[in-house]
Amino acid sequence: MSTPGLFPAIGQTPLIYLNGPSAATGCAIYGKAEFMNPGGSVKDRAALAIVQAAEAAGTLKPGGVIVEGTAGNTGIGLALVGNARGYRTVIVMPETQSQEKIDFLRLIGAELKLVPAKPFKDPGNYVHVARRLAEELAATEPNGVLFADQFDNLANRDGHARTTGPEIYAQVKALTGKAPDVFTCAVGTGGTLAGTGGALKAADPAIKVFLADPHGSVLYNWATGGDLVAEGTSITEGIGQGRVPGNLAGVQLDGAVRVSDPEALEVVFNLLKNDGLCVGGSAGINVAAAMQVARTLGPGHTIVTILCDGGARYQSKLFNPEFLRARNLPVPGWLA
Ligand code: PMP
Repeated sequence: MSTPGLFPAIGQTPLIYLNGPSAATGCAIYGKAEFMNPGGSVKDRAALAIVQAAEAAGTLKPGGVIVEGTAGNTGIGLALVGNARGYRTVIVMPETQSQEKIDFLRLIGAELKLVPAKPFKDPGNYVHVARRLAEELAATEPNGVLFADQFDNLANRDGHARTTGPEIYAQVKALTGKAPDVFTCAVGTGGTLAGTGGALKAADPAIKVFLADPHGSVLYNWATGGDLVAEGTSITEGIGQGRVPGNLAGVQLDGAVRVSDPEALEVVFNLLKNDGLCVGGSAGINVAAAMQVARTLGPGHTIVTILCDGGARYQSKLFNPEFLRARNLPVPGWLA
């Protein structure tokens, strides 16, 4: 294997004490600054883990092609890792995702195929389109094709179990002298929740793991023993699910919280104005969930969550007064 190149830039992100959310709840709430990864999101970790596992297994060979269906961030991570390792990257993405992610994927040289947003059971769903495209390309690509398969490829959660979980445990120990009480985050593939949560529980079984779920997802109901049905909708991207992805199988949960878009947006705007952190919608869901858990458990607990990506990636949506007004969502004073 050649020299590591880009790889050491992925992960080892700071753990930020969130002043506003901590002061509001009496708990110590920390956010893992995943927006600081080279591709700007937590998904760089999954991309790296999937590529490394495929290289080790021989399913990704020099000059090969990576194909993936993604809400955007995994595609960005795969394209950057692919560029660094000499792979072409073909990305299938629902056209409803932010223009900023689409533009950035093109900028970094991903071959992009946008498809209409369809539920998973529809053969036109981006994940199925990507899988078929990978099969088609495999017939002609001399160096082979890897379908990254982030939802069901367990290299994704294994990467978080190896990196995100142990990093958080060590950082909280160094900062507070103790283990965290709670880890919570939302699910796209479940890699972050299951991998990080599993590693934290392995380090200290007393650590509780909570699912954070946006409206429009079935996972809150699934986690609380209900039917796989969704209620409401959400403008957040990259999280919320209509099914239980392979990376979530066997996850040990101690509870689940559901967060509305207005609640998440208020957190996003407060994190920006009061904490100096410009984060995306899923980070808003995560921090709002951490605050809900803090209020349920009471003051004095240490709660860790994930700041999945940055807000600039959603400037045309989350920070666009017209977009927000059209959906009856709060518009922050400085943008109004
Ligand atoms: N937030 C954002 C912005 C994402 O793009 C994703 C991944 N789709 C997640 C959160 C969820 O991460 P995971 O896939 O590990 O569940």
